[in-house]
Amino acid sequence: MSIEKLQPFLAPTYENFPKGRMIELVILRTTKSETIFRTEGSGEPMSSEFVQAGIKDTNIIPRLVMTKRKQVAPERRRGREFLRAQNLLHTNDKNNSICSLNTNAPCEKCIDCFLYGFAAGGEGAQKSRVWTEDAFSVIPATELIADRTINALFENGTMRDVNGKASTALNTSEYIKPGVHFLDVVTLKDVTADELRYVIGNILLTSRYGAVSSRVGRMENEILAVFGGIAELPSSLELVQAVYDALQKIGEPIEHPLPVDPLLTATKEIVSTWKNKRGISMQLSEDELENLIADSDRHWSMEEQETFLQRLDKSYETFRQYRQKRKRKKLEAEKSRLG
Ligand SMILES: [Zn+2]
Repeated sequence: MSIEKLQPFLAPTYENFPKGRMIELVILRTTKSETIFRTEGSGEPMSSEFVQAGIKDTNIIPRLVMTKRKQVAPERRRGREFLRAQNLLHTNDKNNSICSLNTNAPCEKCIDCFLYGFAAGGEGAQKSRVWTEDAFSVIPATELIADRTINALFENGTMRDVNGKASTALNTSEYIKPGVHFLDVVTLKDVTADELRYVIGNILLTSRYGAVSSRVGRMENEILAVFGGIAELPSSLELVQAVYDALQKIGEPIEHPLPVDPLLTATKEIVSTWKNKRGISMQLSEDELENLIADSDRHWSMEEQETFLQRLDKSYETFRQYRQKRKRKKLEAEKSRLG
């Protein structure tokens, strides 16, 4: 069992204090439709960053960026859909409202709050134990963005009005092409086996990112490697740079669409050398990785999902009571101070 192999880096139960155990996932994220990652709001250009092309290749190129927020927000929302369905989003003590993202009243009690953290609220904050980095495209942004000029449709749903006159109103929109690869490293700190399964489920069950409609934003995630250790892996940027060098070395043309096989081979080869880095203790073998994904799939299956999520939710009970007690004490102290 591969979960057992990760045991030294998993927490047996949730604890309030960090103990420096890390599980790390290397993820390939591939756009499956036109996708839009803008900086903020519409009208802004697609998120990109000028960085060094490779580690050896020191040319500067623009790379598309999938920011931390663009990765984590949809994944959290996905997990919370299931929590909502199982009535596992708790109510906030302040105003009795159900836990919701991006409000200043998180419930501080649900799986999502315990794992991904919360900032606002009353009694202290919970730091996120899911650490992400900006993910970068493997090849230059200039290859990956296209512009589309769309004639605005008339109400009859066509480009021509009832008199056969062509539409002249134009909308230009920039989009990321389908088949674009981002490489990403996600670090989980002091998580339990069930929390690991929960995060893996969120990542593999999320299929829409960025600006979402029925037609845009489709992405697929694949976990390429899993590590355990006491230190962080090299960054997402270092990984794409090393892959860029490797593709050049084998003479693979760095252009869109990039075939997935040489990309997978290069990535797996590079990450397999990471075991020798300080603080990285082990990497799951291909078989073990497959078992881990199958194990997570099983827990998320229709048959086991309820039991799994209920069990994970219950695992925080003593901490909920502890927080509740502290809150009550504080309130009483406040009361007696005011006389
Ligand atoms: Zn919550």
